[in-house]
Amino acid sequence: MTETVLSGMRPTGPLHLGHYSVIENWIKLSETYDCYYFTADWHAITTQFDATDNLAQNKRNIVIDWLAAGLDPQKCHIFHQSDIKEHAELHLLLSMITPLSWLERVPTYKDQIRQFRDQGKDIATYGFLGYPLLMAADILMYRPFGVPVGEDQLPHLEFCRELSRRFYALYGAEVFTEPKALLAQISMLPGIDKRKMSKSYNNFINLSADEKEVKDKIKQMITDPERIRKTDPGHPDICCVHTYHGFYNKQQQAEITENCRCGAIGCGECKNCLSAKINEFLEPVRERRAALEEQPHLVDEVIEAGNTAARKVAVETMVMVREAMKI
Ligand code: SF4
Repeated sequence: MTETVLSGMRPTGPLHLGHYSVIENWIKLSETYDCYYFTADWHAITTQFDATDNLAQNKRNIVIDWLAAGLDPQKCHIFHQSDIKEHAELHLLLSMITPLSWLERVPTYKDQIRQFRDQGKDIATYGFLGYPLLMAADILMYRPFGVPVGEDQLPHLEFCRELSRRFYALYGAEVFTEPKALLAQISMLPGIDKRKMSKSYNNFINLSADEKEVKDKIKQMITDPERIRKTDPGHPDICCVHTYHGFYNKQQQAEITENCRCGAIGCGECKNCLSAKINEFLEPVRERRAALEEQPHLVDEVIEAGNTAARKVAVETMVMVREAMKI
């Protein structure tokens, strides 16, 4: 039997180039495993409970972004978390057996509360405290073999594994797996200003960007500030454009490094070359997006099929959970 892998993303807005490596990893995993990928819309509400106007559209758009980026719905199941109500039931039942201290000690909990408070928003809600538990319910529901995670998400996965063990200790039923961390080599693309790529800094290039948007964003990129004239020797190691060449123009990066150091290439030319490479990279993404726009029912069909597959597993899991808990 093919082993199951599960992962999700919050639909908080358009995906950017920084997300591509995550999707690329999803595509790779779907070649080997039975993969379930979901839009974590209830998770989005934990922090954006006051801004849900665009949530439905964002959910759909993120699926379009995934498909445009090359995720093949014939090789994985794509669904919306909130369409599978069993997630809410499992979250509720697991909340009865989760010690409060487990939630309070999640490393990101206090950090995020502080970060949002600095922006004038109080997210210290019951729902936000419980988000690692909702995440655990999302994962355990599909009894996966593994979950693709970054180093920073390991505590969340450990929380999930601990919960699986606690359920077994309390009810003696092996309903859940203890999912492994599938540590992905996700390349961290910096923002165009060299800071961490983030929506709040507006320093990213969307996967849906057209040619002009790409050019405009590249024009804004921070280069070597000491380089005034083309003939000035440059320092490519401190230049954001150079870093991006490493991602999108690997073949020419060494040549650009040399030409920059000896003042043989101007920053304008170097940026134009990068824009062309990123546009080349985005071309197939744009083509797939255009095809989906022409036939929007295809997106609905993908979600419908994914929901059906996810619901089937979720219903089976909940039968076992209720039985184990003698409900
Ligand atoms: S030539 Fe290219 S790598 Fe060198 S500083 Fe200018 S933009 Fe950066």
